Amino acid sequence: MKNRFDQELETRLVRYAAIDSQSDETSPSTPSTDVQFDMLNLLRQELTEIGAQDVQMTGDSVVVATIPGTADGPTIGFLAHVDTAPQFNATGVKPRVIKGYNGGEITFPDDPDLVLSPEEHPYLAKKIGHDLITASGTTLLGGDDKAGVSILMTMARHLLENIDIPHGPIRIAFTPDEEIGRGVSEQLPKDLGADFAYTLDGQELGEIEYESFSADRAVIKITGVSIHPGLAKDKMVNAAHLAAKIVQTLPQATMTPEVTDGRQGFIHVTDMNGGSSEMEIKLILRDFEMDALEAQREIVRQVCAAVQATEPRATISCDISHQYRNMRYWLEKDMTPVDLAREACREQGIEPISVPIRGGTDGSRLTEFGTPTPNIFTGMQCIHGPLEWISVQDMAIATETCLSLVGKAARS
Ligand SMILES: [Zn+2]
Repeated sequence: MKNRFDQELETRLVRYAAIDSQSDETSPSTPSTDVQFDMLNLLRQELTEIGAQDVQMTGDSVVVATIPGTADGPTIGFLAHVDTAPQFNATGVKPRVIKGYNGGEITFPDDPDLVLSPEEHPYLAKKIGHDLITASGTTLLGGDDKAGVSILMTMARHLLENIDIPHGPIRIAFTPDEEIGRGVSEQLPKDLGADFAYTLDGQELGEIEYESFSADRAVIKITGVSIHPGLAKDKMVNAAHLAAKIVQTLPQATMTPEVTDGRQGFIHVTDMNGGSSEMEIKLILRDFEMDALEAQREIVRQVCAAVQATEPRATISCDISHQYRNMRYWLEKDMTPVDLAREACREQGIEPISVPIRGGTDGSRLTEFGTPTPNIFTGMQCIHGPLEWISVQDMAIATETCLSLVGKAARS
């Protein structure tokens, strides 16, 4: 079960995870936080040290580099994101390694109430004997996506040291701000210069994903009529009441995140802000199919129109905009990148699994912008929270899968 890359992967993840590189949705800058430069600059330096070529930081703060081909073949891109999720504390991460997991409950030094149990997490029960990495209880680990970073750095180091291994040109990219959906600009396909690419940002062993949600966002603005409440009779129009009516009229027993799974889409009210004079409601719309997404847009517009009709003195506007699209629409036309990853996975004795992602990845936008980019597993589990953990041996299999993949893609 021990693998030649175990020690390097463990050392890298422990080192990278201790660096705070959390992104921040509320920040307008690129990257959204300065701390992400700590990871980006470090990786730029390490790529140079291991002998990667064309190492540079793009105008969008993406670190890119080339592993020169030793054989003919398509140029393959590999991406991982350096930011960690804003949903949970990511400052002062203290990674800890559990060697040879014994199958029992895992407790955390900095939070005695926190327990990671194999009963509640069946995937953990499969990892007896593995070396696991967790945080200390008060932070997330950030294996999402520093596991991907560790896997790609290990692969790059290995290929650059062993130039007798045949593979085509490889491009590596480390992106900021994936967790807040701002990691991929329209410029990235050009900066990457790959025929197709992979994100290393999946979870369970064997996951080769090529379907994500198609996603829109909606912003509803309601302007009422404001007047001193003591003088308001027959004059005031309270925007808060109209906002409540809109939310009440939207689907609740169907088409919400809390009642859907699998291939079902949803309309999700994420925010409501304001007061009696003005209110703003933010929603996200998600489905795997474009016609269903269009139907959701129509529902939101119709609900706004219906509530508007009850109160002509108010103004209700509804702005719906594009976020990202299901990468399947492009990948199903040419499944070569998916098939290659699946074959490479089978070569490790793992049967690939392709489950539609109920979210988006950097690959969703990259694929839409012209570089087909499925997602490959890393082993990360219980992400975005204090229970986050990962098996070093899962990461090693992901590394071996990437190596098989580049070998298979090379034309001998
Ligand atoms: Zn991720």
